[in-house]
Amino acid sequence: MKRWLIPLVLGLLLVAPAAGSATLSEGWAHVQEALENGDAGALNDTGRELLTVAGDLGVKRLTPYARALLSWGETNSGPVAETAVRLAERFDPRSPEVAFHHARVRWSHGSYLRGIRDYARGWFLLLGDWSARREILLSLAPWWLLALAGALAVGVVWQTARFLPELFHDGWELGRLLFSRSNAVVFAAVLVLLPIFAGLGPVWLLGWLFALSWSYLDVGGRITAAVVWLLVLALIPLNAVWIGRALRPAGAPAQAVAMLLEDRADPSVLQELADLGEVLGSSESYRLVAGALFRLHGDDLSARVEFQKAALSDENDPRPLIFLGNVALDDGNPSGAIQFYRQALQRDPRNAMAYYNLSRAYDRTYRFEEADQMRRKAEVLSDGRPITSGQHEGSTRVLDPVLGWSDLKRMRAEVGPQTWKSAGLGPAALDPAELAVQPIPMAFFFTGLFGIVLALARRRWMWTSTACARCGKVFCPQCKTATESDAYCSQCISVFLKRDAVAIEQQAIKVEQIRRREAWENLGRRVAALVMPGSGEVLLGRWKSGMLSAFFTALFVLGAALWLPAFVAALEPEISTIPVQIVFFGVAALLWLRSVMVSWKRR
Ligand SMILES: [Zn+2]
Ligand SMILES: [Zn+2]
Repeated sequence: MKRWLIPLVLGLLLVAPAAGSATLSEGWAHVQEALENGDAGALNDTGRELLTVAGDLGVKRLTPYARALLSWGETNSGPVAETAVRLAERFDPRSPEVAFHHARVRWSHGSYLRGIRDYARGWFLLLGDWSARREILLSLAPWWLLALAGALAVGVVWQTARFLPELFHDGWELGRLLFSRSNAVVFAAVLVLLPIFAGLGPVWLLGWLFALSWSYLDVGGRITAAVVWLLVLALIPLNAVWIGRALRPAGAPAQAVAMLLEDRADPSVLQELADLGEVLGSSESYRLVAGALFRLHGDDLSARVEFQKAALSDENDPRPLIFLGNVALDDGNPSGAIQFYRQALQRDPRNAMAYYNLSRAYDRTYRFEEADQMRRKAEVLSDGRPITSGQHEGSTRVLDPVLGWSDLKRMRAEVGPQTWKSAGLGPAALDPAELAVQPIPMAFFFTGLFGIVLALARRRWMWTSTACARCGKVFCPQCKTATESDAYCSQCISVFLKRDAVAIEQQAIKVEQIRRREAWENLGRRVAALVMPGSGEVLLGRWKSGMLSAFFTALFVLGAALWLPAFVAALEPEISTIPVQIVFFGVAALLWLRSVMVSWKRR
């Protein structure tokens, strides 16, 4: 963690527990006192005390406290710092920060294997953490979409470049039919560059040329072109959908549910959730989640208020009453608890958890016979299975109803989308009309439609030029004089197929011409392949494999150069991204090498 963050974090923890527990924040105040005095022994003792308090509350992860201790340990030295790091690990045993810290320390001390193991564990914990995983998954979209955009650009640009000579030739022939010979070149140039003459930008020109090139493709090529076209159209709306989702933080309700599932304490999230009470307070699920979170932080007073409101707003749900009973029992009021459990059983007579907790309450009032009766009922109803997944063998704690993602869903349904949005929790609104007028999808949409119409019209009314299979010269039925071969131009037919009619010198000149042309083509393709992976394959006509090469190379390069340093390092400041960056760059280099080798082979 960065040095300047430490006072911020420490300050936050001092202020935030106003809404949270007295006990957790009191314990933390003692820990801080020991830190400030530089007393390792006292730090150890106060830390253990806080852990005991957390254990009584059922808290398994004290994430913000562990972070503060770790950063203290990292910026100081000596026995206090060592104790702080050791405590940090016990405060949050599933903390990726601590694992990454150990990895770095062990690596720098030369125990590489253990360093690597801790590093892998850090990643494992990071991906296991609900909010980190959410952020990482959301960050994949712009990274992958950017790589996809790169691959599409490689496909579109080089596929278009391949057929420029054919395009120009057909434009020229058409001009020759309509105008004089000298004006035909001008006509062809205007036709090819039409979007520029119409005052439209380079994106329109690219879309235009791409659409015109479809006439020269075989069936497989046309299918690929259609897929590429649709992807280009979808790219910007997809990215906008992502922005709409990702620019919203997870929101306190979702974080609260995640914390309840992980038994994690974080007073600042509790404060945020409590602040939403005015907007979301009509929802029973909100009251339940808020109550459970208050209870987790040891604030039974606020918890009781939330559970009472929940019990009033849904008259069929037994859970708020079970919670109320548990709070009463913890508060040393077993007869009050018995009443709440009985009320819960009126709402749901087959509730095993209510019977189980009721037996605990009877135990406390020494009514052991009734306690045994209730326990047996709970066993029968639960069919011998644990009543909650968090139930431990031999635990003497009463059971709390487990709240989960379905309660978050219910909370949203109960308040309605409008209120949910006004609480700043909904996804950003997207205007479909606005997305459609983005320049790139719009240019490709209209030029693409034109390309489809044109390809159909040309099949019926117009010829299509091809490049000579031998020398590459473009010809069409309009200008071809010899008919002996479909694949060769007139010149090649006379030089190579009707050898007797042509002088040896002329044959030699043609062969030399072809050799030079091939040399240039090879050079161009090889340079393109070096600079833009996948380009060489697209120029060879294998554009599916070329675009796949381009996509994966771009993916790993962008991952190493942007995603890891800019995103992951910001998400988890303790992490060193260099090992993964090296792997990513290595994979990208291998992909690039493969693509170059394929393109450098002679055809
Ligand atoms: Zn030829
Ligand atoms: Zn022609």
